[in-house]
Amino acid sequence: MIIVFRPHATQEEIEKIRQRVVDFGYEPKIIQGVEQTVIAAVGDETMHKSLETFETLPMIEKVVPIQKRYKMVSREFSNEPSVFDIGSSRIGSGNFLMVAGPCSVESREQMRTAAGDLTDCGIKVIRGGAYKPRTSPYDFQGLKEDGLALLAEIKEEFGVAIATEILSVPDVERVAEVADILQIGARNCQNYHLLEVVAGAGRTVLLKRGMATMVEEWLSAAEYLIVHGCPHVILCERGIRTFENSTRSTLDLSAVAVAKKQSHLPVVVDPSHAAGRADLVLPLAKAAIAVGADGLIVESHPNPQEACSDAVQQIPSGKFSEFYDELKPLIELCNKP
Ligand code: PEP
Ligand code: MN
Repeated sequence: MIIVFRPHATQEEIEKIRQRVVDFGYEPKIIQGVEQTVIAAVGDETMHKSLETFETLPMIEKVVPIQKRYKMVSREFSNEPSVFDIGSSRIGSGNFLMVAGPCSVESREQMRTAAGDLTDCGIKVIRGGAYKPRTSPYDFQGLKEDGLALLAEIKEEFGVAIATEILSVPDVERVAEVADILQIGARNCQNYHLLEVVAGAGRTVLLKRGMATMVEEWLSAAEYLIVHGCPHVILCERGIRTFENSTRSTLDLSAVAVAKKQSHLPVVVDPSHAAGRADLVLPLAKAAIAVGADGLIVESHPNPQEACSDAVQQIPSGKFSEFYDELKPLIELCNKP
């Protein structure tokens, strides 16, 4: 940490702070400028008490932390990109993962048609929400346990892995019984208690970035998962809230590039929730691949017009092969280990 004194701090004040830095377990290095003095407090910031409270002292102008607030997710911890298996698929370091399926699990027929269409295109991980986080309490909230039972049937019948969202702590065990990928939705990215419990479920976790979450906060949320026992974390950029309203969210492709630079974890993109409209999903998916995403999670429904949620953004599952075929050459080009 760097402690910056206000101009003309007295020698006595500087000495007092130097002593406190030592008491907190850091080695102080004093840099005396013409007007201002700075103390660089050398030591592992995660092991010692934070010096940030020094900012409340009258002779201190500011305290600047140098170390990142996350460790295990960082490239400093592991410079090799993480690679792991989900069912019969692999993600990371040139292994591109395509996840597709309806926004919500609605019926057996809907899920069987979607899974049939999507597995015909080579999709091995099917998504579908049984528990839905809806903005309005009057909207479809998901089939909940009945939805989980349908996902279990799909898993069995089609031999696919399942990605589904987990909304609350009491559901963790029953959702983890069916899910290969536990999705933490944008609204729960910083629900730390949920992250801690989900981390112990023994499943891969797909952590969506919150709509107003900075990359550092998103990576710190991933750190919670790793610290609490989940080594297999997939980061997912799904668009953030900006002033722009021609799309549902603004797909922040810079964040994908930054996350991949800062972290060894695989990063996927959800172009469906970013666009909020089906006609933009393909161009956003192409851009995501080009920027280095390790995979995509795309909403696809047998009959989008009849979908109980996110109708306008879903790609008809019967046309998914056209969508996927457009992406395959790019995936091939951009994904080298
Ligand atoms: C979803 O995947 O259906 C969903 C609700 O996503 P998000 O959390 O990104 O809004
Ligand atoms: Mn959705």
